[in-house]
Amino acid sequence: MAQINDNFIKIPATYLFSEIAKRVAQHKEENPTAPIIRMGIGDVSLPLPDASIDAMIKAAEEQRHAETFRGYGPEQGYAFLRDAIVLNDFTDKGINIEADEIFVSDGAKSDTGNIGDIFDNNNRVAITDPSYPVYVDTNAMAGRAGEPTASGAWTNLVYLPCNAENNFVPALPTEKVDLIYLCYPNNPTGTTLTKEQLTVWVNYAKENNAIILFDAAYEAFITEEDVPHSIYEIEGAKDVAIEFRSFSKTAGFTGTRCGYTVVPKQLMGTSSTGEKVQINKLWNRRQTTKFNGTSYVVQRAAEATYSPEGKLQVKALLDFYKENVSIIREGLIKAGYTVFGGKNAPYVWAKVPQGMGSWDYFDYLLKEKNIVTTPGAGFGASGEGYVRFSAFGSRENTIEAMKRLEK
Ligand SMILES: *Cc1c(COP(=O)(O)O)cnc(C)c1O
Repeated sequence: MAQINDNFIKIPATYLFSEIAKRVAQHKEENPTAPIIRMGIGDVSLPLPDASIDAMIKAAEEQRHAETFRGYGPEQGYAFLRDAIVLNDFTDKGINIEADEIFVSDGAKSDTGNIGDIFDNNNRVAITDPSYPVYVDTNAMAGRAGEPTASGAWTNLVYLPCNAENNFVPALPTEKVDLIYLCYPNNPTGTTLTKEQLTVWVNYAKENNAIILFDAAYEAFITEEDVPHSIYEIEGAKDVAIEFRSFSKTAGFTGTRCGYTVVPKQLMGTSSTGEKVQINKLWNRRQTTKFNGTSYVVQRAAEATYSPEGKLQVKALLDFYKENVSIIREGLIKAGYTVFGGKNAPYVWAKVPQGMGSWDYFDYLLKEKNIVTTPGAGFGASGEGYVRFSAFGSRENTIEAMKRLEK
């Protein structure tokens, strides 16, 4: 009998989105004509930029002919894309990152999930709460999270609560940690850290030989000046941080799949015998062993987002969602809600009425208003008492949903 990795059976089934689907289906069955508006999804709705579609068609045509056909590419990504990333996302913004510090992938979910491969299980891991579930679950799969308790929290993880009381700015951990997951702009809360607030974490990592795993999947939604797009805007961050980026929310690549991870060459970890080891080398080894590169056609599509027309089309996509999110923010405020986020992210995090749970409030909005949200409790204990509204829907539905809530 083949013995399985027991860590997998310790992880509770991913209950959040299946439970939402179940409740929505039941409501629909009882009210077949209910005009349901879905504001719970984290998926985009607008199609890809034309520049990316044209690039994919051209690349597909190249794959038709022996002279232009491309087989296996570099596991780290083609130079054309790595160079475009370096120039547009870093050099042009005054950040010094080199092409061999960029690892192109099929998305930030894979990379944030896989990064744990190169770190020992004895590392103490800190995760902001609420959070994107991938950070918690992949540490649990690796056996780094300990045991789940009745409340759903894991014994060996250090949770950093983010709530209205601390204005969604996590406090430094009171015990020493080695790996720190930060996601800003944040999913699910839509909140951000200022440069000064992020500097506190970079300094903590430096002083404690910790590494920050910085998920910047939503950087393209930033509208405020003082919010860093990259952790490398912070002095010294290249010594302590890995950054994850994605074309998914920025340019509509959720189904097309492309992202990248930045691993600075000066970032070091320590081996069990105390030697300093370059993290970039380890990640390169991991990727070249377990990953065979992102599809050529898709890398051309990603490259095209940096062309002059691609940039304009991406901006138009983002402007559409940004307008949606301000409609939601303002609509909720007008309807009397206490809201957070939504200025630099496609999510608004709203407080539910005193004494109500986030699942109860989810049910209320579904049954009384025909609006689907995401209950905050699904993202961790500190998400209790909140629901998330997403701005990825149509303009019409966004406006209609706010009208229903204002009544
Ligand atoms: C959507 C999302 C990602 C991106 O995932 P992809 O695999 O690139 O589609 C990464 N991190 C967070 C927090 C997200 O919400």
